[in-house]
Parts: sequence; structure tokens; C-alpha cells
Amino acid sequence: MTAVADLMDYAEVVERYDPVLGLEVHVELNTNTKMFCGCPNLFGGEPNTHVCPTCLGLPGALPVVNGTAVESAIRIGLALNCEIAQWCRFARKNYFYPDMPKNFQTSQYDEPIAFDGHLDVVLDDGEVVRVGIERAHMEEDTGKSLHVGGATGRIHGAEHSLLDYNRAGVPLIEIVTRPIVGMGERAPEVARAYVTALRDLLRAMHVSDVRMDQGSLRCDANVSLMPKGTEEFGTRTETKNVNSLRSVERAVRYEMTRQAAVLAAGGDIVQETRHFQEADGTTSAGRVKETAEDYRYFPEPDLVPIAPSREWVEQLRTTLPELPWERRRRIQQEWGLTDEELRDLVNTGAADLVAATVEEGATPSEARSWWVQYLNQQASGREVELAALPITPAQVARVIALVNSGELTNKLAREVVQGVLAGEGEPDDVVEKRGLKVVSDDSALITAVDEALAAQPDVADKIRGGKVQAAGAIVGAVMKATKGQADAKRVRELVLERVGA
Ligand SMILES: [Zn+2]
Repeated sequence: MTAVADLMDYAEVVERYDPVLGLEVHVELNTNTKMFCGCPNLFGGEPNTHVCPTCLGLPGALPVVNGTAVESAIRIGLALNCEIAQWCRFARKNYFYPDMPKNFQTSQYDEPIAFDGHLDVVLDDGEVVRVGIERAHMEEDTGKSLHVGGATGRIHGAEHSLLDYNRAGVPLIEIVTRPIVGMGERAPEVARAYVTALRDLLRAMHVSDVRMDQGSLRCDANVSLMPKGTEEFGTRTETKNVNSLRSVERAVRYEMTRQAAVLAAGGDIVQETRHFQEADGTTSAGRVKETAEDYRYFPEPDLVPIAPSREWVEQLRTTLPELPWERRRRIQQEWGLTDEELRDLVNTGAADLVAATVEEGATPSEARSWWVQYLNQQASGREVELAALPITPAQVARVIALVNSGELTNKLAREVVQGVLAGEGEPDDVVEKRGLKVVSDDSALITAVDEALAAQPDVADKIRGGKVQAAGAIVGAVMKATKGQADAKRVRELVLERVGA
């Protein structure tokens, strides 16, 4: 292992240097079959069961392009405001690596299917940053190596390695930004916000399941620094396969502090790939980065060029769903939210859940209050995302309906939600099993009121004598006797009625 790197204090970094970012996101498409063969495109499975001569690169096997993957690529390009190529080809990217049995990756080089776009990204405080998209191109995924016997799961120190080609040939779209400059201290946040916006967009389009934890969305973060007042980009490093949104932000920030320390000490940044360590938030050196020439790209001779007609492109444009930011704008207007309320909704990841709860019959403010406040606290307590809580919008809507009909108080409603979260079934089941219904039967309440009055005759006399505020003690006793399941307002009415006040 290398020695722990010197780091510069972040405040000093942004005072002395301007960061330049370049983000490359790989997204696996959720097509039924792989990019160039008919093998199933499924995550996992017994190793080497989703393979055939084409994706294993056996001699004589010929590829055929997956039409649905091309369609998804064009739709992604359109959603990213890109131009769609009139004509483009695949290219061979030549390199040897055991998880790539063909010894080349079928990719696109100087003729990407989509180019010159942008994505507007909203930061935590509402500021909008436009990130330029240089290109989005089609390629295939590689297989996976499993290194056995080493401590870290990396090849270093391993006794042997196993290969699984199930992932080889899975359709990928690589989305590359233009250099992102001028972000200063907010650069790490911009990186996270960009990947978040891209994930939300791709999810809304149903082109990928965008699971960073499973690798169906992966981000490589290029970072370099230039001394303030200069305009020439510094040497960059590329931190590979950062696998959570939070890690994207941490990796960029770490690289900025590490590179600044190297530069300030008079050193040079090595152009290399780096690995991000989740555990301590640091990066470590990988291989020295190849340049494009090293890959000896040439046009793929086994595949015909792709020339999407303008009619087809325009037809695909009509299939784009309401994009996440358009939807947010609409929701804000329809629900009458302030900018701050909208931001809370977005930052807690509650927008879709609230919308779905409203569709189930709740009002926006009721639905918002449950998801943004109580349920968000529950999610934080369990350290999961809001959407991962085991409760559905329909169940939340049902709880709200029970409160509105007077069958539950707010306090009881929270208990019902706890029951649903604990796996006790639907809200009505929890009400039944836990016996949580509000006691609205007057005869049961009258009995409880009479008992409480009999137990505190002096209080009863006071009320009778006109000290109406003394009724509170009786109401309290009744609420206690009914375990809080009575409507306090109704109890108070009954108390006054029974004493004849
Ligand atoms: Zn295959």
C-alpha cells in the first residue's frame, strides 16, 4: 500500500485552484437481450449461463445490433437535448483484458449516435447549473473478474481469478460531459447533482433500472485543478466506478484536496485511473491512463452503419415521458408550493411518493406532511431512502382517509403507520389487530365519563358550579381510560352534558 496522501484543507484548495470536472456515466440498458446477440440481459445468474458464441467472441460468430438498444440510445440523446447523428458506425476499441473475450470492445469512437446536448441540474439551494453533454454513445459491457484469495478482492495478492461472461455484451450507453468549469467550492456538489439528475431522468424513461449498487449506473469522475487566474487545464485523474451518489461527491472532493497538496508541494499530477475506497473516502492509484491512440480504434467491419431516419427520430421524440424537472415545475404550480417546499420535497426524494399518494385520493398537503415529515424521519432512523420504506402511497392515503373520517386521531394514525412499517399488513388490518379505532360510540364514552365524574365528585361539583375549565381533569381521565382512543372534543361535550352545566 502507498503511504497516506497529504491533503490540503478544502477552504485553501478553493482559494488557490479552480477545479475542472468531466463526468462519464455508463448506464446498462434494460433490453430483454444483449447488444449484439440473443442472450438474456439479466443481472446475476449462475456464472457463464447467459452466453453464446457471439458474446464469448468465438471465431466465426457474427454480431447483430439490438434495435431496441438503438431506440433507447436515441431517446436518451433526445432527452439530453442532443443532436442525433444522421449516420454513424460502431468501432472496435482494442485492448486485452481477461473479462473481454473478443480482445476488443465494440463501441463508438468518432461517430457517436448522440452529441452536443445539455442537462440542467438543480443544486440543493435551488440554483440551476447547465452541464454540457459532449456525447452519448453505444457500446457493450465487459464480463466480470472475481479475484480469489486476496484480502481486498482486487487482483493484487489473489491466488487465482474466475471469470463470468454473463455481463459481456450487455448494452451500455456512455454519457460524457463537456468540461465543467467555474463551479469552485461547489464542484463536488455539482457532480453529485448531475449524476442524480441523470439517474432520475433515465429512471423516468424506463430505459434502465439505474441501480448504482448493482452497477447498472456507474460514474467515472475526471478531476483536475488549475491555479486561480490561469486557463489551461491541469493533468486529470479518472476515479473509476464510483458506486453511490454520495461517493461521487466524496471522490471529487478528495481528489481536489489530494491534487492541491501535490501541486502546492511542486509535484506533478500523474494521469492515471484511481479507485475510490468507500470505507475511508480516499482514492488510490490504478493504472496509468491510456490515450485514445493506445486503443487503435477502427470501424467495426461486421456491423452495418446506423442511419436513423428523421421521421423515426421525431417519432421517438414523441415517446419521451414528462421529464423529471418539467414534472416538478408542474407539481409546484398545481400544488401551490413555495420554492422552499418544492426543494424539501425533492431533497427528501418524496416528490413521486407524494404524487402517487395524491393519486390515491389524499390532498397534496396531507400527503406531503406525511412523507416529508413523519415518514422521512422514519427513513432517516432506519438509514434507508424514503422510497425503500415498506409502506406504499396507497397505504398512506388510506391512513389519511381514516383520519379524515374521524376513525383515527393523528396519534393513532402514527401507530397504524408503525404497524404497517413493521409488516403487520394493511392499515385496516393494523387498526383491527392493535384495536386502534377511535372510540366514537357515545354509550361507551358516556360510561367512561360517568365513571370519571363519580371518581372525582369535587371536580364534578366545580363544573356544575360554573367552573367549566375544570372539565379538563375529567376529559383527561376519560382519555386515559380509553387509552387515547377517544375524540377529546366529543368527550368534553359529553362531560358538560352529563353534569348538566
Ligand atoms: Zn450471447
